[in-house]
Amino acid sequence: MMQDIEKHTPMMKQYLEIKHNYPDTLVFYRMGDFYELFFDDATTAAKLLGITVTTRGNSNGQPIKMAGVPFHALEPYLLKLVKLEQSVVIVDQVGEVTGKGPVERKVTRIITPGTLVEASLLNDKEDNLICCVYLDKGDCAIATMSVSTGVFLVNQVRESELINQLERISPNELLVQEELRDKFAKLKLRYSLKPLAKWHFDFNTAYRKLCSNFRLTDLSSFGITPQDRLIIVSANALLEYVRQTQCSDLPHIQKISLERDYNGLELDAISRRNLEINYTISGQKSPTLLSVLDGCVTVMGSRKLRLWLNNPLASHEQIRSRQQVVSCLINKTDKLNQILSGICDIERISARIALGSARPRDLAALRDSLTILPQLYYLREFDNSLINQLLSSISGVAEELAILLSNAIKPEPSALIRDGGVINAGYNEQLDHLRDMQVNANKYLEELTLSEQNRVNIPNLRIEYNRVHGYYIEISNSHLNKVPNNYRRTQTLKNAERFTTDELKQFETEVLTALDNSLELEKDLYNQILLELNDYISQLQQIANAVATLDVLNNFAVVAGQNNYVCPQLVESNIINIEGGRHPVIERQVEQFIANDVNLSDNSRFLLITGPNMGGKSTYMRQIALIVLLSYCGSFVPATSATIGVVDRIFTRIGASDDLSLGKSTFMVEMSETANILNNATPKSLILLDEVGRGTSTYDGLSLAYSISRFLIEKIGAYTLFATHYFELTNLIASYANAKNIHLSAVEQDDLIVFLHHVYEGAAEKSYGIQVAKLAGVPKVVINMAQKYLQNLEAAKNNNQLDIFSQLEVEESTVSDDKTTLLTANELAVIEEVNEINPDNLTAKEALDFIYNLKRKL
Ligand code: ATP
Repeated sequence: MMQDIEKHTPMMKQYLEIKHNYPDTLVFYRMGDFYELFFDDATTAAKLLGITVTTRGNSNGQPIKMAGVPFHALEPYLLKLVKLEQSVVIVDQVGEVTGKGPVERKVTRIITPGTLVEASLLNDKEDNLICCVYLDKGDCAIATMSVSTGVFLVNQVRESELINQLERISPNELLVQEELRDKFAKLKLRYSLKPLAKWHFDFNTAYRKLCSNFRLTDLSSFGITPQDRLIIVSANALLEYVRQTQCSDLPHIQKISLERDYNGLELDAISRRNLEINYTISGQKSPTLLSVLDGCVTVMGSRKLRLWLNNPLASHEQIRSRQQVVSCLINKTDKLNQILSGICDIERISARIALGSARPRDLAALRDSLTILPQLYYLREFDNSLINQLLSSISGVAEELAILLSNAIKPEPSALIRDGGVINAGYNEQLDHLRDMQVNANKYLEELTLSEQNRVNIPNLRIEYNRVHGYYIEISNSHLNKVPNNYRRTQTLKNAERFTTDELKQFETEVLTALDNSLELEKDLYNQILLELNDYISQLQQIANAVATLDVLNNFAVVAGQNNYVCPQLVESNIINIEGGRHPVIERQVEQFIANDVNLSDNSRFLLITGPNMGGKSTYMRQIALIVLLSYCGSFVPATSATIGVVDRIFTRIGASDDLSLGKSTFMVEMSETANILNNATPKSLILLDEVGRGTSTYDGLSLAYSISRFLIEKIGAYTLFATHYFELTNLIASYANAKNIHLSAVEQDDLIVFLHHVYEGAAEKSYGIQVAKLAGVPKVVINMAQKYLQNLEAAKNNNQLDIFSQLEVEESTVSDDKTTLLTANELAVIEEVNEINPDNLTAKEALDFIYNLKRKL
């Protein structure tokens, strides 16, 4: 169409010129009271939004397909498109109607899934994030921004860590290098993918632009040096992209925070899913750790809680300072809850102020919240350093801004500034006067009439109005001789003459334009207030942070009080000792939850868990991981006591699922996850392994489970919980001093099975698989058959004594005694070579060379 652009009508030409820059995005083009979409956009929008396509007029000889939505009802349509991950370009009329050519129009906003700031488009309780990833030679930088709150983070990790990081951040939109489009598309990530052309990632431009954006000569104040090339490139590409979407500067993005030093308790992507922190395994939002824990009264608190649960701390000191606040607040949460419940989303409102898109009711809500905030000072009575630190970011600023806003904004302003009724009476004299004019025009007229009657001494002088002549002074013929010089005649009637004066003309103009002028003036004043508030953005962000932090900590105290959580004791030694531990989610779903202990230490680093299907093995393992995670977030935990040592990472391998999109079968997924654990765990990691080896043949699986267990015990020494139905493994454990068998049990009653859900020392005797199958409704004939087969198999096993692992154990326990560990690939190659050689065929020289060669290899 651009080739024939000159043949189009001027308006279509203007449209096509704009559309040319956004070929893949729906363009909403303002025409009068509608936003219109044209051509293919009209067809697409009609399908997505259920609106009607019409054709109107011709341009370049073609009928124009169009579909539109009323301008005042735009947001619900945008919301629908945002949910479908569609981006939208909004084009508004910015010029005056001149009658010559189309009105000037400009792109005023580009709505994309990760750059939302409009309250109606955002989910209150979830951050809306956009990431930009830049990959180079095995390293990658990840820049993350929350446009709606002003957070801007950068991080650099190895490429292999990228997916874990993205899972932790969980962005709504991901910017990547164009050439990596396919690579990312294959990963089938949940977020919307936006490839950017190469020029977006030019280092020199990026460095210069970042410095100039933050008005700095270099980036050292953020801890970033020119050597951080990847970080600089990704940060700038992200900032520029966001700036374009907002069509404005981003004054609320005040700094770049480097996450490089993040050394909190790490969770890889799989563990995050397995532990059902944000979503259940099946992708629901509830019941999850977050859903049962989130009783925050502000939306800022809910968002911060999600952030904390996904970014546990490492520093015991920081954790303890959170715990101390929770201890102060426990059983005293009502007052703080009541104050916090009146506080609005200060964080997002301040971002909208910075972007100039805050609405009058945003400011009214902000004013009301700031007025309430000083009530928080009662918390000083707790004399707690974190609380005092949080309060110090509120004091002074809250009061000052509350006064400013109370003076400026009406108690209940109208929703949109264009409707007026926003600025308070008494804030601006001229506005008061203009409003007065609208309301009291008649009173003015009466006053003016009276003053003129007295001035010119004509008692029957009248001031009136008609549509043709506007306001006029009417004087009857008998008084014409008293008409003063400044009266100008406008009309002659039979018995009277009509006049006007400069003053009356001015009054007329003022009355007739009072509404327009007051609306215009209100808009100007409103924009000035936004500008004035712009100077307080960083203070508002600090206030928002303080409120959110207090809310989460108070929420921890509420949850702890309601559910009998205790404060975990954090220690530097190698220990995870939990008494009476419970699963925070499951305990809310079952009638009676059976609490269990765990004791992991240098003396018992590996627990092999056996027991019946449905016995509670997975629940037990997960609850330990969740208690450790909650401890590292500063929360109290569901237990009667907990002592938690240093834990660097939580790994989990639980459940069976395939990943066909990545070409991985169920067993391949199981083994990839296991490989990740074996390659990355340290002695300070907590590992949960559920039924490793189940996805293949019994002997393959058993052999793998056996060697994986040995590797974990001998080579890694991490805190490990290994649930299995391979009872053969229980013998292995007996040979290690720092490994233990524990089991969950069940009792059979009248051919039925009752699960005790209690953890006991020692190994279980059986899995009760057939009984569970019966419970699940497997047909009776199948159950009977299975019982017969089981009896046969057990008899055969007893007769053959097929106990290969106990044999191996004897051989290898000698190996263990020799302090030798598992064989390396090199050692195995040497053994193979020795096996293959026939000594009878060697000369003495060859034999000696062979020995030298082997020795060198070893
Ligand atoms: P399988 O070997 O079949 O995977 P499992 O031993 O891992 O089973 P879980 O999935 O942990 O068993 O538990 C099954 C169900 O038992 C849970 O969904 C829960 O309802 C209940 N349950 C587990 N642990 C407890 C407990 N400690 N107290 C009360 N109920 C529990």
